[in-house]
Amino acid sequence: MSADPRRQVPRTDTLLADPQLAAAADRLGRELVKSAVQQVQQRIRDGALAPGDAVDAALAGLPSTAGSLRPVLNATGVLVHTNLGRAPLSPAAVEAVAAASGTTDVELDLGTGRRGPRGEAAIAALLAAVPAAEAALVVNNCAAALALVATALGGELVIARGELVEIGDGFRIPELLTATGARLREVGTTNRVTLDDYRDALSPDTGAVLKVHPSNFVVRGFTRAVPVAELAAGLGGSGVPLVADVGSGLLRPHPVLPEEPDLQTTLDDGADLVLASGDKLLGGPQAGLVLGRAHLVQRLRRHPLYRALRVDKTTLAALEATLRGPLPPVHQMLSADPAELRRRAGALAARLAGAGVDAVAVDAQARVGGGGAPEHPLPSAAVSLPGTFAAPLRAGTPPVVGYVAGDRTLLDLRSLPPSADETLAAAVLQVAR
Ligand SMILES: *Cc1c(COP(=O)(O)O)cnc(C)c1O
Repeated sequence: MSADPRRQVPRTDTLLADPQLAAAADRLGRELVKSAVQQVQQRIRDGALAPGDAVDAALAGLPSTAGSLRPVLNATGVLVHTNLGRAPLSPAAVEAVAAASGTTDVELDLGTGRRGPRGEAAIAALLAAVPAAEAALVVNNCAAALALVATALGGELVIARGELVEIGDGFRIPELLTATGARLREVGTTNRVTLDDYRDALSPDTGAVLKVHPSNFVVRGFTRAVPVAELAAGLGGSGVPLVADVGSGLLRPHPVLPEEPDLQTTLDDGADLVLASGDKLLGGPQAGLVLGRAHLVQRLRRHPLYRALRVDKTTLAALEATLRGPLPPVHQMLSADPAELRRRAGALAARLAGAGVDAVAVDAQARVGGGGAPEHPLPSAAVSLPGTFAAPLRAGTPPVVGYVAGDRTLLDLRSLPPSADETLAAAVLQVAR
């Protein structure tokens, strides 16, 4: 004769008073713990759980942090994966974020006790990294930098038809620019534009000439673009600012990515302002960087819209530490040695095969991602598993995201630090069981 399970369900108050659950409520907040408790009560009512296991089950059902974003192992081979949060921060940047998270001297001069310039140290780090720039400004992302430029320099923006780019997920640069009220003066054709096209388009209404790096596609065949150096020389004397959106945020030329524009070279070539993202190839936090001539940067900083686009203290902290600290993960991944990647894949596959998993090491091609170097595959190595592993790996703890090729799941090692191999092996073994 079984008792009515509803009579045996422990009361919410009783469970929340349990010392372990009370401690969890102090850490995670009462609502999260209460919701875990209510789920446990339902399972007891359904007869799926013994009342004596209520506390343990509620503890097991709690998230590890009060936020729901979870760490994910990126085995996609896409180094800067927008859906996975783009650049992983370096340990130095993570520490700097933690240090700046409370009350901090972001806008206070501790020597004089007076208000100081906001984020001065991050700006100084940017200028040290890109000596060609006279001044710099940091906003929320590169889209915000474009919006600020279009609003503050505005009027008419001269831009090549081949550079009216969609970056991803419906984000179209020309639509962003016109949303600010600026007008576009399109020049050239899809495949070709000349210096004269730009020159002929200048008028007293011209606010700026804008060059946008076509980050995620290439045009081949009968094509012609005007490089920044030629454009700068050709516009010289017109007084019209030349603004170059390079997108990826490389500070200097990178030997592995010879085609990718960088901030220092673009300014050396004569751009008046250069714009980039902080969380692509720079390897830092989400941010929009504006570097170049002091009077133009000052115009942007004084514009009322800047106040709506400025970044918070944790972004400034992460950016400075990325610039001044050790090489960020994205750069370690970029320069990873293919032979070493193959060695890691071989060791992992051997270990998994030893445990009875159908795993082999294979050569693979990684990519920069995040709208960078679209045609530049990076030699890599992967662990190849049965195709059926992909979904349970994504659902595991921690989730592992690889990709499926034919009937195999591939876990590319270039987008993972070597320190993650142990966790990766454990995650695969968990799925195999
Ligand atoms: C990625 C990219 C952007 C957008 O940058 P966000 O930082 O994501 O706003 C703008 N322009 C170019 C050329 C890009 O590659």
